[in-house]
Amino acid sequence: MKQSTIIKCPDCGERAFIKTTINVSDGFSNLYCICSNVECNASLVFSLYLSYHITPPRSAMSDDARKSLAVLPRSERRQIAYMLEK
Ligand SMILES: [Zn+2]
Repeated sequence: MKQSTIIKCPDCGERAFIKTTINVSDGFSNLYCICSNVECNASLVFSLYLSYHITPPRSAMSDDARKSLAVLPRSERRQIAYMLEK
């Protein structure tokens, strides 16, 4: 199984590997991790949730809306996405 190294152990600062991901609901998952530092050996559960879309999925947008958004700077797209999520 491929291991991911995006998690930092809060106990020792070393990388923690995601061993299992449990999808609790749409946009919310629990990540079961283990620290790579054998001296620490902590097992951890992180909660991961979707904050907002930077770009909505293609299925949620018309072609015209997608083309209009594509010409905007990324910061403006992010701001629009943030406002739409509220
Ligand atoms: Zn650790």
